[in-house]
Amino acid sequence: MCRRIIVGLCLLSWALIIPPAQAQDAPAFRLAIHGGAGTIQRANMTPEREAAYRAALQEALETGHAVLASGGSSMDAVIATIAVMEESPLFNAGKGAVFTSDKTVELDASVMDGQTRAAGAVAGVTRVKSPIALARLVMEASPHVMMVGTGAEQFGTEHGIDMVDNAYFHTERRLQQLEQRQARDDTPSGGDGAAEPVDEPAEAPLDKKWGTVGAVALDQNGNLAAGTSTGGMTNKRYGRVGDAPIIGAGTYADNATAAVSATGHGEYFIRGVVAYDIAAMMRYGGLALDEAANAVVMGRLSALGGTGGVIAMDREGHVAMPFNTSGMYRGVIDADGTVTISIYRDE
Ligand code: ASP
Repeated sequence: MCRRIIVGLCLLSWALIIPPAQAQDAPAFRLAIHGGAGTIQRANMTPEREAAYRAALQEALETGHAVLASGGSSMDAVIATIAVMEESPLFNAGKGAVFTSDKTVELDASVMDGQTRAAGAVAGVTRVKSPIALARLVMEASPHVMMVGTGAEQFGTEHGIDMVDNAYFHTERRLQQLEQRQARDDTPSGGDGAAEPVDEPAEAPLDKKWGTVGAVALDQNGNLAAGTSTGGMTNKRYGRVGDAPIIGAGTYADNATAAVSATGHGEYFIRGVVAYDIAAMMRYGGLALDEAANAVVMGRLSALGGTGGVIAMDREGHVAMPFNTSGMYRGVIDADGTVTISIYRDE
């Protein structure tokens, strides 16, 4: 009895004197984004283009940070952040998205709430200005998780979502990429091309380029959320859907493990169930976030032949951003506003 009291007093004094390391280190909130992974090399980048990317990533991060700093939810932050990137012609999402083989734009997006594991997704939409906003609407205003094509658009119209003509998404650069792709061979290709000169050399098979956007966030209440939005792959067939709107493949969030958003060759991310695989390794294997993310992207996805990367965040705000391509547009903003933006592998 006496021994128990002494042990109890010792534990109490330890708890009072040394605050738990995690509570002390954990950020109050945090946001991480990606703007696509792929063949992104300094040799192909002009200073102007690099500056434009860094500025766009910065703007997206600051937008989400403002939401989180004012006490907004991680879901609000993810939506606001991705909407900025959808409006930028630099990224393969919303305006500036890649073309299908039919010279139209078809967009996919999804979101997931880590607290409730509610999720929403849209695929193959052609007139929705912000597909990520519609994905959230599917989650919040319908009993469904995923809606596609004209049905999804009709649902959005009924709920006052902004609609645009497909031409709103078109850019000259993406059209040239489609024409070059079709002249070279007729296979689909990763969408980014952002860092490439338009007359890019033929890509190495394992190092293509992509361009989806995504965000993961932890809010002041300790809740995680993830979202992903994309135009898919240049020259994809009419009707092709990638991993971005597939919950568990391109997007996943669970407060018990992690929030994840992926970018890369979608077919492989679907087959590898990449985003969920990371969460599953944490949940069932007890792996830490970076161990799980690395094992899945650098190990299992690579072994399957898939290229790309993920951003992942756990409930303590740890971030992992593994990718197996030469670059990935990525950034993190901390609660105190500190921003880290990286593009190349060696950063
Ligand atoms: N993952 C996307 C898709 O396959 C492409 C990308 O990440 O750029 O549709």
